[in-house]
Amino acid sequence: MSELEVAQFRCRSDNFGLLIHDKTSGLTAAIDTPDGEKIWKELHERNWQLSHIFNTHHHYDHVPGNEMLKERTGCTIIGAKMDAHRIPGIDIQLTDGEQYLFGNQEITMIETPGHTMGCVCYYVEEDRLLFTGDTLFSMGCGRLFEGSAQIMWHSLQKIKALPEDTKIYCGHEYTLTNAEFALEIEPGNKALQARANEVRELRRNRQDTLPISLSTEKATNPFLRTDSTEIQNFFNLQGASQTKIFAAIRARRNQF
Ligand SMILES: [Zn+2]
Repeated sequence: MSELEVAQFRCRSDNFGLLIHDKTSGLTAAIDTPDGEKIWKELHERNWQLSHIFNTHHHYDHVPGNEMLKERTGCTIIGAKMDAHRIPGIDIQLTDGEQYLFGNQEITMIETPGHTMGCVCYYVEEDRLLFTGDTLFSMGCGRLFEGSAQIMWHSLQKIKALPEDTKIYCGHEYTLTNAEFALEIEPGNKALQARANEVRELRRNRQDTLPISLSTEKATNPFLRTDSTEIQNFFNLQGASQTKIFAAIRARRNQF
């Protein structure tokens, strides 16, 4: 089994900073750089040297520390080829399914357009870790700034196809609001009720609600549950196309 250690900490108001550390090689990567100084401090506290940055997308709250951290550490920045023009300091451009060898671990880029057209997730197969940025949140998904509902639905199917025990890390702590929304449209879902209770308790104690397993997300995340009869009934879209149901959920969440 793997040697990867993951450190998760809060940055800005609701972003997550994420560091992955490979004990054998000593390599350390940041998944996005929401706050360069905060990441620098977290590295220092663990005595880890930053060697890589993996960017999930170009948004201002995911790349602002790129250049500063690269200047201080000489780290290598990896991002989507499609977004090369808008990822500051990018060194290595990957496309869908391409792998990057990080120590002994293959990290696979999965293109997941929708939130932006260049959005990607990073998957560590050996450890079953998935870093979704703003594509998938616990019980939610990213807003459609650049892609259509159809494009985003398609991207989420790629995530859904990964092993059930995949551990998901996301770009933001939006889980409590997402849970309230999910309960509104699928109140009879027992797994959702249980997860919502767990999330309320965690947030009351100021604890993070992530990571979360893919199996839990498949049972509770309305954006992965367009085949739920209860959700279809809620929108009066019984038998409609999955993308149409997805679009209805997304539109309602935008107003929530
Ligand atoms: Zn974003």
